[in-house]
Amino acid sequence: MTSDIAIAGGGIAGLTAALLLSRAGFKVTVFERSGSFSEVGAGLQISPNAGRILDNLGLGAALDAVATRPTAIEMRGVQSGRTIVALPLALAAQRHGAPYRLLHRADLQAILVEAAEADPAITIEAGADVALIGEDADGVRITAGGTERRFDVLIGADGVRSRIRALVGGGPAEPTGRTAWRITIPAGEAPATIARDRVTVFLGDRQHVVIYPVRAGKEINVVAIIEEGWRGEGWSEPGDARHLAQHFRGAADDLAALIARGQNWTRWCLSGVDARGPWQRGRVALIGDAAHAMLPFLAQGAAMAIEDAAVLTRQLLRPDLPAEIALERYVDERRPRAARVSDAARQSGAIYHMSPLAAPFRDATMKALGGERLLARYDWLYGWRQNG
Ligand SMILES: Cc1cc2nc3c(=O)[nH]c(=O)nc-3n(C[C@H](O)[C@H](O)[C@H](O)COP(=O)(O)OP(=O)(O)OC[C@H]3O[C@@H](n4cnc5c(N)ncnc54)[C@H](O)[C@@H]3O)c2cc1C
Repeated sequence: MTSDIAIAGGGIAGLTAALLLSRAGFKVTVFERSGSFSEVGAGLQISPNAGRILDNLGLGAALDAVATRPTAIEMRGVQSGRTIVALPLALAAQRHGAPYRLLHRADLQAILVEAAEADPAITIEAGADVALIGEDADGVRITAGGTERRFDVLIGADGVRSRIRALVGGGPAEPTGRTAWRITIPAGEAPATIARDRVTVFLGDRQHVVIYPVRAGKEINVVAIIEEGWRGEGWSEPGDARHLAQHFRGAADDLAALIARGQNWTRWCLSGVDARGPWQRGRVALIGDAAHAMLPFLAQGAAMAIEDAAVLTRQLLRPDLPAEIALERYVDERRPRAARVSDAARQSGAIYHMSPLAAPFRDATMKALGGERLLARYDWLYGWRQNG
């Protein structure tokens, strides 16, 4: 019977899994490599499929205190600035059982850390880098922060550049040929025509920009995605504002002004991990970006990590299954979903980034379908519920 679980990584995946596993009666230790919990200074959209799980953990009120509930996702043209279509989100809670929320990552992480620290069944060790030593019929032996330890199961929630992935037979993350430029600015400094009550997505030629409020509307999060290679040393670096402005020359006035306003951009290499690759071996399994880092074009990477944590917990709880079989069942259940969402995110990118020749047909199709019907095409995504 599994009782003592190690989680490598204290990001959204690791912390959510720790909370779900502890509520289910397991003893959990979260090892985080960094000396402290810190998140990228950027926003996160949490859709109802994941929000429902966080609500069930009792975190809804804390999330609502720092989140905005958007009325819509509005598509506009990068150059024309004109609205193409708006997908209405206000009724998301009614339709899918949880609201669509816009958050600052650091706010979500602080809520998860606080809940985990208050839970006596969870131990958090920061500054502890995890490596697997070996595995036998009874459990796994790891080193964490230089000390050798034994657990029943090891969960690799160690992100896109996971070390645990190699231990289950997976390869390194691959660059996708796109970069993400991120910044948050005080809401008062954004042009008045940038909506404060919704997600705005500007669609352009091999580029798009996503803008939405965070910190209960006090700040605006801006992410610009560009198709370009990566020659940086690491995986993120300070972004040259002039380079970005050059990419968006000819943009609509408010978008151009917003891009010009940002000075402290961070530029990220967007990397992917094939969701169809290995996720598990014996008593070791991956969750979150470690298993299936995907393009952010459907805003679903963290949502998939949260769903993973819920399915993993349910499978480990089954008294009839040895841990390694429970982990296999977890992968069997999650892989098709993660692969489908990853594929859909890539397709979404192709639609967002259409050439000026194809874009008028895209826009006409979106308009003809209308926001309600476009949104209904994602019922399979936002309406997800656990089996069993
Ligand atoms: C531009 C952009 C926008 C996005 N927007 C959204 C969005 O709106 N909605 C959404 O759902 N998703 C979004 N995503 C995806 C989302 O950010 C990720 O899917 C999510 O953060 C992954 O969480 P994780 O816990 O799996 O990994 P991470 O957040 O990377 O956490 C991994 C943790 O493991 C630690 N670690 C690494 N190695 C070890 C080790 N050996 N031992 C111990 N600890 C270790 C790391 O320090 C880190 O804290 C976006 C991504 C990008 C790039």
